[in-house]
Amino acid sequence: MSTARTPLDEAREQLSDAIKALGYDAGMFDMLATPRRETTVSIPLRRDDGTIELLVGHRVQHNLTRGPAKGGLRFSPDVDLDEVRALAMWMTWKCALVDVPYGGAKGGVNIDPPQLLPRRLERVTRRYTSEIMPIIGPERDIPAPDIGTDEQTMAWMMDTFSTAQGHTVLGVVTGKPVSLGGSLGRASATSRGVAIVADAALERLGIEPDQATAVVQGFGKVGRGAARFLAESGVKVIAVSDQYGAIHSPDGLDVPAVEAHVDECGTVVGFAGADALDNDVMIQLECTLLIPAAVEGVIHEGNADGVRATIIVEGANGPTTAAADRILEHKGVTIVPDILANAGGVIVSYFEWVQANQAYWWSESEVEERLEQRMRAAWRDVIKYSQARTMSLRSAATCLAVERVAEAHVVRGLYP
Ligand code: GLU
Repeated sequence: MSTARTPLDEAREQLSDAIKALGYDAGMFDMLATPRRETTVSIPLRRDDGTIELLVGHRVQHNLTRGPAKGGLRFSPDVDLDEVRALAMWMTWKCALVDVPYGGAKGGVNIDPPQLLPRRLERVTRRYTSEIMPIIGPERDIPAPDIGTDEQTMAWMMDTFSTAQGHTVLGVVTGKPVSLGGSLGRASATSRGVAIVADAALERLGIEPDQATAVVQGFGKVGRGAARFLAESGVKVIAVSDQYGAIHSPDGLDVPAVEAHVDECGTVVGFAGADALDNDVMIQLECTLLIPAAVEGVIHEGNADGVRATIIVEGANGPTTAAADRILEHKGVTIVPDILANAGGVIVSYFEWVQANQAYWWSESEVEERLEQRMRAAWRDVIKYSQARTMSLRSAATCLAVERVAEAHVVRGLYP
């Protein structure tokens, strides 16, 4: 983070703007700014030398009004309760915007997975799952992968939960391995969704994919696939990065070759046929599409003015601060906001949960077709809303989502 403001400050500012634009009162702001439930747990672990180490984990259920809570589990040394609260709030808006019947949640454990042996990672996952057991379940709260977690993590969570229940409960998490009730197409869903809205945004501005260039920040679960799908559609991917550094080739990177290099070396750095570049410099490269696909707050007041992209497609959650948003809007940059751009993951998580609950599995092409339909429908909804009210895509997406959640609150009424 390059500013003192936290992701929660950014999320609350976006909500506050939406509440004003929608004409709701302070009570509605308070209700939607505050998580319904927060659980903080201790995760005691015995080290190999017999001593005890205590980790801290969180699960925040921001909203439960439109259905069970839904959202990822993050393992990262940057995790803190405020970050989890912000990410949970964004999940609420994301689920409402793409109209899946969930509220938003997020979980986090403050650890650095690459530093841990798989055995320890499994113990952390299982103990965390057991600690949050009373609040999760297919009808309560359904975790999924996020930064630092993957389908193996979900398999351990599902196994821990199921063992305690005495029977297999496939619907308790999504993003599971396909061999264990995962959905075909889930692993690539977020990336595919990013590429779908990037394509829609190019089309709206009258730019052919083969005339476009892309810069992708982050080469993990989201950025890697997004770079591949964009390259397949004819976009020239001129730079990609990960936490170790960036690589740049003005003539376009051979994305499958970069992927092979990453599989071998664990980083994009050192890829032959590209120049090394500083991560900060990369964000300011001239390009058609800038895709931040890593962490929060990477486009901020300090570098937004230097951004020379036509369109930003937010693969990450919260990559642009509110101050940067204002600068970029003034510069005329189109921002496809995170709650729309990276919603492909939770859309296919929803498909996975539906399939698990029905014990009936769809083909990969069915999943991909339905994902594209939902992404394009949400895109059209946001465009229509922004045109009708002369709003940025971010404001339109947030207002539309907040309106849907607020309406659900109003029609349910307040108990007692
Ligand atoms: N962690 C992903 C996100 O931020 C996926 C959440 C889910 O599938 O529940 O959208």
